[in-house]
Amino acid sequence: MLSTINYWERPGYGLAMVGFAWLWFVSMEWTSVQNWRQGEMTLLADGDSELFIDGKLVPGSAGRFPTVNPATEEVLGTAADADADDMGNAIEAARRAFDDTDWSRDVGLRVQCLRQLCEGMKAHIEELRELTIAEVGAPRMLTAGAQLEGPVDDLRFAADTAESFDWNADLGVASPMGIKTRRTLAREAVGVVGAVTPWNFPHQINLAKVGPALAAGNTLILKPAPDTPWCAAVLGRIIAEHTDFPPGVVNIVTSSDHRIGAQLSTDPRVDMVSFTGSTTTGRTVMTDAAATVKKVFLELGGKSAFIVLDDADLGAACSIAAFTAAMHAGQGCAITTRLVVPRARYDDAVQAAAATMGSLRPGDPTKPGTICGPVISARQRDRVQSYLDLAVTEGGSFACGGGRPEGRDRGFFIEPTVVAGLTNEARVAREEIFGPVLVVIAHDGDNDAVRIANDSPYGLSGTVFSGDDERAVRVASRLRVGTVNVNGGVWYSADVPFGGYKQSGNGREMGVAGFEEYLETKVIATAVK
Ligand code: NAD
Repeated sequence: MLSTINYWERPGYGLAMVGFAWLWFVSMEWTSVQNWRQGEMTLLADGDSELFIDGKLVPGSAGRFPTVNPATEEVLGTAADADADDMGNAIEAARRAFDDTDWSRDVGLRVQCLRQLCEGMKAHIEELRELTIAEVGAPRMLTAGAQLEGPVDDLRFAADTAESFDWNADLGVASPMGIKTRRTLAREAVGVVGAVTPWNFPHQINLAKVGPALAAGNTLILKPAPDTPWCAAVLGRIIAEHTDFPPGVVNIVTSSDHRIGAQLSTDPRVDMVSFTGSTTTGRTVMTDAAATVKKVFLELGGKSAFIVLDDADLGAACSIAAFTAAMHAGQGCAITTRLVVPRARYDDAVQAAAATMGSLRPGDPTKPGTICGPVISARQRDRVQSYLDLAVTEGGSFACGGGRPEGRDRGFFIEPTVVAGLTNEARVAREEIFGPVLVVIAHDGDNDAVRIANDSPYGLSGTVFSGDDERAVRVASRLRVGTVNVNGGVWYSADVPFGGYKQSGNGREMGVAGFEEYLETKVIATAVK
């Protein structure tokens, strides 16, 4: 099992760690995108990607669609565009591999294949890094963690979990209704899993489904977001070239058409949909899946609170909140986007947050020192801008930022923005923006801070900062969310379950709980003679 290391035991350490990490990345050597383009690209022949169906790389029947670099707006290349028949073929292949092969019963083969996939990705890690920066607009520094290397490593956790898991349990002999019976319990794969994913942390989210679902013995169809098809498609080539996965066990279907993803919710041959994306789409998935009563696992949106109690180091805490909200242009579902601070020190808090956030200029994600890159698309940039306009309409003001950065004609950039002067009733404080926007809200003590944090349709994550760990933990325990960071503690780890309360979803991804999401439970009761 991997262990969670708590580097940030105190606010001061947290800030120092952020600073050190930044400086380290600024100073490290790095390969330019240009070098990558000029001959180190082996995963995408001729700048195009294929579908991966039944163990073969195949073209899409709907043609091809472009994938765009959000930092430059240039077309990087194209991805195969699947139609409904392609998706039908992928579902059929996954069904056959589940029903007609030993995959679901052969733990040893599954462990071996997942370890091969991990090693195969590592063999291509520098190419994957450049591809991720180019396609996702992910700042280079994040590719050393959750944007690439973290989730690749986490495949080992999935393999290790399958290897050490108690697949069968003896419930003993009992005589229910007077009949002496031996009861045994078996954990088994659910069957064919449809995995639908968004664009913000594609490797993290793709692999947090692919790893556990396959380790548990399911077969799978991965349908990634149309904005980041390559990050998923490259898995097909790596699987084909580096692993012994039997044909049909993993299928990867890229498409420009959202309806191709919806097919996974409605098709009766699919046993489970594992979905990460917006709450709006999650509702549709749930509704579509109802007709076939398939299992639905949802990781959805968030509007998480960062609570600063009145005994905390306010400046350090607000600075960390601002840094976090600007990272990857705020495109993280668990990012704390409401900064909830003591009313008496509201102005100081706004100033501290703006000092940090205003200094984090949105920039070129290929550069090692960039923290805030572009948002994924023009559509997303316009959506964030519409929320900034709404903030003003609702009576808020900008302590820094507020729109597109000057002097950047190309790329989908938004300035890191601190919004002041609003209450938790404002739409800007209630709705997920998915951009580098932090709303500062005043609280009147611990109870009020908890009330504000919980007054949200979402319940994904949260943070509490205080000079007193026990007081902070008391507040943390009252938050209706799936993960809480106390004084800089890090919950993100392969062995830690992640997920939301309320409209942030159901179920858990990662950890043993995340593995068990992909299992059924069977009991065999044998009469004892
Ligand atoms: P989205 O909901 O628009 O799309 C997500 C995926 O669903 C894409 O692959 C899309 O093609 C597909 N899709 C669209 N309509 C569908 C339908 N009717 N049936 C099936 N699939 C369909 O989300 P997005 O804009 O790609 O991603 C941003 C959202 O994802 C944010 O709301 C964010 O909070 C959320 N998110 C949540 C988590 C989490 O773990 N809770 C993690 C990352 C992102």
